Amino acid sequence: MSRTVIHGGLVVTASDEIHADVLIEGGRIAALAAHGTDAATSWSADRRIDATGMYVLPGGVDAHTHMEMPFGGTYAADTFETGTRAAAWGGTTTIVDFAIQTMGRSLREGLDTWHAKADGRCGVDYGFHMILSDVNESSLKEMDRLVAEGVTSFKLFMAYPGVFYSDDGRILRAMQRASGNGGLVMMHAENGIAIDVLVEQALAEGRTDPRYHGDVRKVALEAEATHRAVQLARVAGAPLYVVHVSADEAVDEIAAARHKGLPVFGETCPQYLFLSTDNLAEPGFEGAKYVCSTPLRPREHQEVLWRGLRNNELQVVSTDHCPFCFSGQKEMGRGDFSKIPNGMPGVEHRMDLLHQAVVDGHLSRRRWVEIACASPARMFGLYPKKGTIAPGADADVVIYDPGAEQTISAETHHMAVDYSAYEGRRVTGQVRTVLSRGVPVIEDRAYVGHAGHGTYLPRGTCQYL
Ligand SMILES: [Zn+2]
Repeated sequence: MSRTVIHGGLVVTASDEIHADVLIEGGRIAALAAHGTDAATSWSADRRIDATGMYVLPGGVDAHTHMEMPFGGTYAADTFETGTRAAAWGGTTTIVDFAIQTMGRSLREGLDTWHAKADGRCGVDYGFHMILSDVNESSLKEMDRLVAEGVTSFKLFMAYPGVFYSDDGRILRAMQRASGNGGLVMMHAENGIAIDVLVEQALAEGRTDPRYHGDVRKVALEAEATHRAVQLARVAGAPLYVVHVSADEAVDEIAAARHKGLPVFGETCPQYLFLSTDNLAEPGFEGAKYVCSTPLRPREHQEVLWRGLRNNELQVVSTDHCPFCFSGQKEMGRGDFSKIPNGMPGVEHRMDLLHQAVVDGHLSRRRWVEIACASPARMFGLYPKKGTIAPGADADVVIYDPGAEQTISAETHHMAVDYSAYEGRRVTGQVRTVLSRGVPVIEDRAYVGHAGHGTYLPRGTCQYL
């Protein structure tokens, strides 16, 4: 069995900060021992990694990505190969992507399609959630089978009428099924029926620029849908995970539900923490780069999101990585913001941006690891295989240089997209080396991994309850 020792670093997990050496054997963490002790110095190893002055972190778990996702007549620009490579560059060693059920087709067919896209192409490990677009008797039955085989979470949409939208009755049925089979319902909570009216009115009045995308997708319509989703989950006796929470009032709804003791969880994304409607309003057509749903909000919302992350009103930061090139893809919406493909690139920079939040005093180091690694792993049934550094865990390890300075730019990023939403932003902290199951995929800022190293992860049910 190959043995690796990482020595001299500060091991940071969701619960501890330990000056310890880490022994890896055959792809898993075998032991931790205090620096300089007989135990640590006696370890023989095939490879020794000096982590002096570095953090030793569990690999990031990004529970919300959309590689090669079809949307509005085009496809998200990152394939599973390029997207997971970019993830590795940024210290993320697990993604959970969304397989999509096509209207009128089975869940199985959608899942098979996504397996075919990802199989043999990923640079890091991956699992799938299932998007339920067509809730009916047979897809409800299929949910049970999917949970049993490791696809344990199901995303429903209160937005996008005619595409992914489910009405309240369908949502209730899916939640009832999930409450029986242990599945976790993930909700895109925006009132899409009302939003579509506002979209139509805006376009008719000549308000066609990207910033109106943010204007019509009202805070009140995110908060209302969040409230409704909570009540439906409560009636069904099911847990609920609200994806990409962006509005302060939606955080309030989740906080109120949790205060009542309901198993309601919230996710936000770096774009809502670091960007705002100011970006959507950038001159020319630049704002299209920041079109995603839920939309970016006015700056004041950011403090509420940070507070929610500190108070555990929000538990997870994922990226909702869904990149579309500015040229040729975002441009489809010139003169009509409703035709701009919704989504932003982000899988590469989540760990760094959240480390910047540690530097800025928004989060503690342990909370950084918790919201980016441990909680997503627990939420989606991957813990403690993923999300921590402890004996028995997969040796997904990031050697992180907390003092390195970097400038985020499309010139240097590794995502297959022609712009960065954070162009020119200086951040402190950078990934040095990344191991996936003990195998280096990034070594001293060089990619040494390969497509096909990443394996499919059947997941257990939610461990956060
Ligand atoms: Zn998404």
